[in-house]
Amino acid sequence: NLSSGIVGLANVGKSTFFQAITKSTIGNPANYPFATIDPEEARIVVPSPKLDHLTSLYGSAKQVPVSLTIWDIAGLTRGASSGEGLGNKFLSDIRAVDGIYQVCRGFRDDEITHIEGSVDPVRDLTVVLDELLLKDLEFVEGAIERCKKRVKGGNKNSPDRKLAEEELATLEKTETWLSEGKRVASKKDWTPEEIDILNIHTFLTAKPTVYLLNVNEGDYAAQTNEFSGEVQTWIDENSPGDRLMLFSAAFETQYNELAETPALQQEYRDMYSGVDSVLPAIVASMREVLHLISFYTCGPMEARQWTIREAITTAPQAAGVIHTDLEKTFISATVTKWADLVKETAPLNEAKLKNAGKIVKAGKGYIVEDGDVMLVKAGS
Ligand code: GDP
Repeated sequence: NLSSGIVGLANVGKSTFFQAITKSTIGNPANYPFATIDPEEARIVVPSPKLDHLTSLYGSAKQVPVSLTIWDIAGLTRGASSGEGLGNKFLSDIRAVDGIYQVCRGFRDDEITHIEGSVDPVRDLTVVLDELLLKDLEFVEGAIERCKKRVKGGNKNSPDRKLAEEELATLEKTETWLSEGKRVASKKDWTPEEIDILNIHTFLTAKPTVYLLNVNEGDYAAQTNEFSGEVQTWIDENSPGDRLMLFSAAFETQYNELAETPALQQEYRDMYSGVDSVLPAIVASMREVLHLISFYTCGPMEARQWTIREAITTAPQAAGVIHTDLEKTFISATVTKWADLVKETAPLNEAKLKNAGKIVKAGKGYIVEDGDVMLVKAGS
């Protein structure tokens, strides 16, 4: 189960965002209460219109969605990397997550202190990036020292010595890159072998990041803000390929509070051109940057969503997610594609689909795709 963490300076709206997302009722079927594990960690249901459609198509008695774990990591401060304040704790908390939501403040409010003295999201992004870079540099230097010892200590022709030499070369390349002020993730030509090595070391700046610019309600509705252009430019330069999303912690909080009175909620939305909550899209974007996709198992008892890695998960591996034994005893699977199911209406006529050749057999080498409905056949 992959996890994400909310990162940013103090007072930018991280906790408000976390509260909004844990209180959100979107995609939260009544029979599947989400779990707030502790005040800083929540498991959020991933809203899935696909699962809703499949539940209805297959007439399933219940649905079981997937979830995303989100950590509310305490605010980072300038100097965190040198261990000031709770610095090292923030950074080790960040190390533990797979993906980052980086929240920055794009709303003005004189009542809310900005720890850097003014509202300037690009400066804030730079402060956070610098701390992460400094920590990664310190980290890579330590790793290089340890690796050099392995290179020296090992027998010249031993496999470990060879591995250590390869690792050292990658780490030195990483050090050069970081010392130029660049995130590990922004280098796009790492080889697969280098990526395997980088993955062992969990660099902070290697983590996929979704940038969230917290703006006032009106700017959210307009999907533009006085800072959004320069923030986008900063991301293109420093975190190329990563996503910027405008959201309003204030809007999401109010939206949640009105959830029990739909008429009032609608009235509130109408004040802002009818916009809806962006939280489902924020959750979906984390799954995207982590390259996670879903397949489904559907029957009269339940329609269930499962999480796998995009483009590399074979049918037996996917079966192994359902139950470990199924990977070993996998014989074959039948697969129905989402593209063929999306057009169908309940109740699903499976015989018709089968006759049309839309329910196909998948062997051991089949790579499972997003939206596949699978039925696994396994031996004993
Ligand atoms: P954190 O330190 O990053 O977790 O920030 P908080 O979520 O605790 O927010 C700090 C303060 O800013 C709180 O008083 C929030 O109510 C306020 N705040 C957060 N988001 C918004 C927003 O979108 N608009 C306004 N006006 N205030 C906000």
